Amino acid sequence: MHSANADVVIIGAGSAGHAVARALRRRDPLCTITLIAAHSGEVYPKSALAAALAAGRDPVRLVQASADMVAAREDLHLIEQSPARSIDLVQRAVDMEHGSIPFERVVLALGEEVGVPGALRGNPAVCPINRLADYSRLKTKMAGARRVLILGAGTAACEFADELARSGRQAIVLDSARHPLGERLPVLAARRLRTDLERAGVQFRLGERLLAVDPIAAGRYRAFTSCSDRLDIDAVISLVEPRPRVSLARDAGLPVDRRGIAVDGRLLAGAEGVFAVGACARLPVAIAHAGIEAQAHALAETLCGRPTQPESRLEAYRLNTPDAEFVFFEPPPLAGEWQERATPGGVSSAFVDSDGRLRGFALAGSAVDGRKAWLARLTR
Ligand SMILES: Cc1cc2nc3c(=O)[nH]c(=O)nc-3n(C[C@H](O)[C@H](O)[C@H](O)COP(=O)(O)OP(=O)(O)OC[C@H]3O[C@@H](n4cnc5c(N)ncnc54)[C@H](O)[C@@H]3O)c2cc1C
Repeated sequence: MHSANADVVIIGAGSAGHAVARALRRRDPLCTITLIAAHSGEVYPKSALAAALAAGRDPVRLVQASADMVAAREDLHLIEQSPARSIDLVQRAVDMEHGSIPFERVVLALGEEVGVPGALRGNPAVCPINRLADYSRLKTKMAGARRVLILGAGTAACEFADELARSGRQAIVLDSARHPLGERLPVLAARRLRTDLERAGVQFRLGERLLAVDPIAAGRYRAFTSCSDRLDIDAVISLVEPRPRVSLARDAGLPVDRRGIAVDGRLLAGAEGVFAVGACARLPVAIAHAGIEAQAHALAETLCGRPTQPESRLEAYRLNTPDAEFVFFEPPPLAGEWQERATPGGVSSAFVDSDGRLRGFALAGSAVDGRKAWLARLTR
């Protein structure tokens, strides 16, 4: 039973949870910080998983700081292997399987769920990848794998596909959407991304669904798709569109929707002393582009009694695909249209709102060189 009282309880030991703990400790050497980790609480870069998998790197080599190191360095109480099961806003306590912990302030840093499509749930052949333990499992399955099916054609899926193709494997990306990066992107830019990745050896099966995967031999599977095709493959990685984890907040009566836990400009999640950060939070438009570090710094200030709004620095997302230069800035959900232009070595696409203002862009090929100018145009 955990009984110590806590000034701040952080639920979730991913990038956002660790960043908040770090930023808070820097500002307040005395407050009690408890970090609840659903699994293990080490620090590692998710952005490195694709290249590491392709190179067969040992998961231990990805760890930047072990849970013990973090707990000692940040002087925090780190509870591992203890998913929070509910939050009681009246009693002000977080319940876990083995006890509960009271809080004055609680920070939800729950991240996103990378699932497996309905019909394939529970199929041991299909491996989602969203944490280091998933990586370890997949790495074992990938030993000797030559032909790999990747479900989903989002950013992480394109990154994994490119890295696997570069390592000499056959990577097949399958998605029911008609373009990579789905609805987010305009057609011409998406087509360019696809062509560049195909040139590097990635195969796309778009507008198709995976119906079943059956084992046919040790480490060999047969996949059946909605186009009545059969694919013999060695591994299946699921990177279907991630969804913010909102159930804990929803069950506590906090405002949520499918885009995340609703927060205000100071990351307050609809109840006094309850905050949400990172991928589980739906930020208001004014701070929609605040990165995890900016959110953590602002929240740490707020938790120290100096209410602060995160700085929303405009940054475009650059795909980590060495064979396909691609940068985009996702427009907010506003009425408007994509205007696309093919340039000699690439594609420039602008999202213009109904007042004629540039609100987002996608640049492919040599057009990415102009990204700074495009970002500057966004602020005008
Ligand atoms: C393979 C992959 C690659 C990615 N690469 C990039 C990239 O290059 N750049 C980028 O900007 N983004 C990338 N992302 C998106 C990435 O998830 C986020 O940028 C970042 O990890 C979000 O941090 P977070 O702390 O909000 O979520 P996470 O890092 O997912 O952390 C959430 C944590 O909360 C824990 N948790 C969940 N529920 C509970 C519970 N009930 N109790 C306790 N703990 C709980 C989870 O176990 C997890 O440790 C990638 C995502 C994936 C899947």
